[in-house]
Amino acid sequence: MDYISTRGAAPILDFEGVTLAGLASDGGLYLPSEWPRFSEAEIAAMAGLPYAELAAKIMQPFVGGSLTVGELRALCGQAYGRFAHAAVTPLAQLDEQQWLLELFHGPTLAFKDVALQLLGLLFEKFLGRTGQNLTIIGATSGDTGSAAIDAVAGRERIDIFMLHPRGRVSDVQRRQMTTVLAPNIHNIAIDGSFDDAQAMVKRMFRDPEMTGRFNIGAVNSINWARLMAQVVYYFAAALQLGSPRRDVAFSVPTGNFGDVFAGYVAAQMGLPIRQLIVATNINDILHRALSEGDYSAGVVTPTAAPSMDIQVSSNFERLLFDCGGRDGASLAAQMASFEANKAMRLTNAQRSGTAGLFTSARADATEMAEAMRWASEACGEIIDPHTAIGLHAARAAGLDAATPVVTLATAHPAKFRDAVERATGFRPHLPARVGDLFSREEAYTELPGDYAAVAEFVSTNATPSS
Ligand SMILES: *Cc1c(COP(=O)(O)O)cnc(C)c1O
Repeated sequence: MDYISTRGAAPILDFEGVTLAGLASDGGLYLPSEWPRFSEAEIAAMAGLPYAELAAKIMQPFVGGSLTVGELRALCGQAYGRFAHAAVTPLAQLDEQQWLLELFHGPTLAFKDVALQLLGLLFEKFLGRTGQNLTIIGATSGDTGSAAIDAVAGRERIDIFMLHPRGRVSDVQRRQMTTVLAPNIHNIAIDGSFDDAQAMVKRMFRDPEMTGRFNIGAVNSINWARLMAQVVYYFAAALQLGSPRRDVAFSVPTGNFGDVFAGYVAAQMGLPIRQLIVATNINDILHRALSEGDYSAGVVTPTAAPSMDIQVSSNFERLLFDCGGRDGASLAAQMASFEANKAMRLTNAQRSGTAGLFTSARADATEMAEAMRWASEACGEIIDPHTAIGLHAARAAGLDAATPVVTLATAHPAKFRDAVERATGFRPHLPARVGDLFSREEAYTELPGDYAAVAEFVSTNATPSS
């Protein structure tokens, strides 16, 4: 499979190349040059496959040329063998129409494990072939950091430096990162906000002093391999609910637009998806973009669903490219104007291209708490604040009663237990697999909010590229 950039001016890469590259050199994001498509009969024949085997079938067309069928199956078996539920991403039924897709049975209790467990193995495999070392730099407001650290702990040829804003992540989230003591893990607590940490990471990707010595890689959802792995659970859920004979709708708690973009890819591959509901909190740039064509960034307001507190959603660019006629040059101009003005209008082609499949809704704090209470009192299910925003949007969507609506349950409720307790009066327990989190030793380095100090720390502790 060939991969092309959304801005049309970066080299074409194969799967191995896009996995190690992260962002394209023209500032765009990589996408497959065409969507592989399964026939209705091929989809029907996938029913009942174990998750790891289904994963290998769905991902096979994307990795062609970089991994054999046997290699891909082995990696999927290893990645999904670490999940605490045999079905990996089981469904729970709430009422006649509403379902939850539980994506939080991985080691760090959020859906990011589903893709990052595989990505860690892909990095190790590809680096082993070239003999190079990879230096992963990331900033996290919580979930990405812990999932990435778990996925690469102890892996050959990889160092990871994860910046978090000191004192601004929850105790559970911090301990999930800082109690992993493998020598290739470097946690850095910096003075400042998440945005300050993120800005330092971006600067390091462009710093020739650093890129000249180190092979710097990314683990956020600009990495195509993450989105690819997320396509699988849309198929898994729809097959269980009667696809391809029956259409299914999905409601997706959305921040950086990675998870819901994977649903769009599933639809391009032939899965009969009736609707993709993009659920946002009050940081609602995506709701405004999809409902009114107005993509303009405001100021981020902190909420009880912090992984959705985002104003600019990187992966939205992938949708605009694909729906707007795949014209890299004009998208590059559109994005340049967005970067200058922090605002832009969607084109008519982009609006009509997204209108068929997507709808959107936003939930405020009251609606989020109501959804948590409904799930608890009417259905006996405790859900986290992110999932609650998705569920609110699912119930408000007004789909005909014959269409099942699946809300993606993106985090385990225990990860956000204070907010859950406030809404429902019930304090969820941490699952046994992370039970001793609060008695484990922590290790992290505190640094001032100063780029030179962070660059110096990375230079001293990372392994040069080869
Ligand atoms: C990352 C995250 C999201 C947002 O997912 P995107 O792919 O960035 O849209 C939603 N919920 C939780 C719990 C997350 O960790």
